[in-house]
Amino acid sequence: MSKHDLLIIGAGLAGLRAAVEGVRQGLNVAVITKVHPVRSHSNAAQGGINAALTDRGDDWRDHAFSTIKGSDYLADQDAVEIMCKEAGDALIELEHMGVIFSRDDEGKLGTRAFGGQKKARTFFVGAITGSAMLHVLYEQSVKYNLSIYEEWFVTKLVKVDGKCVGVIAIDMKTGKVESISAKSIVIATGGAGRVFEPSTNAIICTGDGLSLALRAGAELMDTEMIQYHPTTLAGNGILLSEAARGEGAYLINSENERFMERYAPDYMELASRDVVSRSEQTEIDEGRGINGCVLLDMRHLGKIFIEERLGYLQEVATEFMGIDLSEKPIPIKPGMHYIMGGIKTDYNGATSVPGLYAAGECANVSVHGANRLGANSLLDTVVFGRRSAVNSVEWVKNNEFIEIPDEILISEKKRFQSLFDQPSSGIRPGKLRLEMAESMTKGIGVWRDEKSINNAWEKVKNIRENYNNIFLDDKGKVYNTDLIGALELDFMIDVAESICAGAKARKESRGAHFRTDLKDRDDKNWLKHTLVEKNDEGFMVKTSDVKITDWEPEERVY
Ligand SMILES: Cc1cc2nc3c(=O)[nH]c(=O)nc-3n(C[C@H](O)[C@H](O)[C@H](O)COP(=O)(O)OP(=O)(O)OC[C@H]3O[C@@H](n4cnc5c(N)ncnc54)[C@H](O)[C@@H]3O)c2cc1C
Repeated sequence: MSKHDLLIIGAGLAGLRAAVEGVRQGLNVAVITKVHPVRSHSNAAQGGINAALTDRGDDWRDHAFSTIKGSDYLADQDAVEIMCKEAGDALIELEHMGVIFSRDDEGKLGTRAFGGQKKARTFFVGAITGSAMLHVLYEQSVKYNLSIYEEWFVTKLVKVDGKCVGVIAIDMKTGKVESISAKSIVIATGGAGRVFEPSTNAIICTGDGLSLALRAGAELMDTEMIQYHPTTLAGNGILLSEAARGEGAYLINSENERFMERYAPDYMELASRDVVSRSEQTEIDEGRGINGCVLLDMRHLGKIFIEERLGYLQEVATEFMGIDLSEKPIPIKPGMHYIMGGIKTDYNGATSVPGLYAAGECANVSVHGANRLGANSLLDTVVFGRRSAVNSVEWVKNNEFIEIPDEILISEKKRFQSLFDQPSSGIRPGKLRLEMAESMTKGIGVWRDEKSINNAWEKVKNIRENYNNIFLDDKGKVYNTDLIGALELDFMIDVAESICAGAKARKESRGAHFRTDLKDRDDKNWLKHTLVEKNDEGFMVKTSDVKITDWEPEERVY
């Protein structure tokens, strides 16, 4: 059995940043990932990363206030303070590692405007920021000679005496099932976008880590907070980055009106994402849309500017819609993009399970609260990825390795075998996955109410029952994606139920959670986090207080 001081599940930005830090701290570190590291979803991030640099006349407090207002006052303000204070150093460190951030006319690091903030503080690499960052962190992992279990799929976190002591994982190349023991574990498995269809997320974003943590007894926090991004392509859900609006694109309706004037006169297209998505949906619902969409108009920016600053968007528009953005507006609509909720951690990345940490999109620290600002997620991954590794050092020093009992490995193997042994009359997992994801979008959408939430939840429960009748065509060992797909679906069902449980519990509207049956924010009763736990009776919801430091909740207008 392999052994490591620190095992990180996930090789996106959060995982790799944690890994580099672990090595710097002198730990024996390994990363385990179901895809090659640079295929992680971080690679798809386009728009940029926020930081308030003092020598630019910017102030972390202003960034913190925008983040807290953006969160509809649900973010924990002590955590937001840490993120915004550490942002400058995190950004400069990335630049020194080799991220080729775009520069302005004077040769300094350039910025662009992003939603929910008055100051342009988003640093970027054209429209491929995530890819540039991820490749540089991967280079660092090579420099530090990191052990990477590449194309290994984690199926279970192992707990002994209440502590997290390792994982069970499948080597996808050979089908071998093994246990890996570790003194501490960081979950950095990314988002759960594919619990919804369509989604801007990569097909691998199935929320595995949320379910792994839940099954190990950790709590998920504010799971109802699902971000619908204002500009996604209808049908396939592909994202057109907020960078477009940051660089000056307009949103118009079928009457050629810049309708944001009615909803957010001060911030216009750059109001926070939940506000813009609801405004678009209102236009569409009230008959001022075009085939269920509104239009993103960039014609006034000119071809040269678009191709220089937003080249990737032009590529997507041409390839998928046959549209040249300098000549024609492009139809877009709100689409599922990000999950603010996740594994509850403190601002050092620790979960409630000893030895278990989490960072990145799968974690909820909570810096995004009820609505994340664009370009704050890349920042979250590097700041809290690093912190989770730093804070695991103490635990590693004070704890011994614990052997993973054989019976746990045997029982996992039996579980997989039972999937292979199912009768061929069964249902394909892919069919269930699509049915579930479509009903989640229907029930837990831009708008939701008691009935729609109940309907989605009923459907998920029904999918869980049907899961017992799935059938796998592929019985082989090598790259059995049929098996992996089935195991992902098993995780996704847990995530979907947790989202429904959170949404049903929160009896108000706040940020991305807009209930048409309870339209107001209710600070008196609901300035609170929801905490979902899974036990023998099902998915239980508790609440906990939101940490307020300097910013008392106010009415949120843009
Ligand atoms: C299209 C798009 C554009 C975006 N643009 C921006 C932007 O401009 N700015 C911004 O701030 N944010 C942006 N975001 C959000 C941001 O990119 C993500 O939140 C962030 O990159 C997530 O990083 P991560 O390290 O947490 O996870 P990921 O990068 O998703 O990595 C997850 C890792 O976990 C591994 N993994 C998962 N499950 C398992 C398992 N069972 N076993 C083994 N390994 C597993 C995967 O292999 C992968 O390596 C964007 C998101 C999308 C989808």
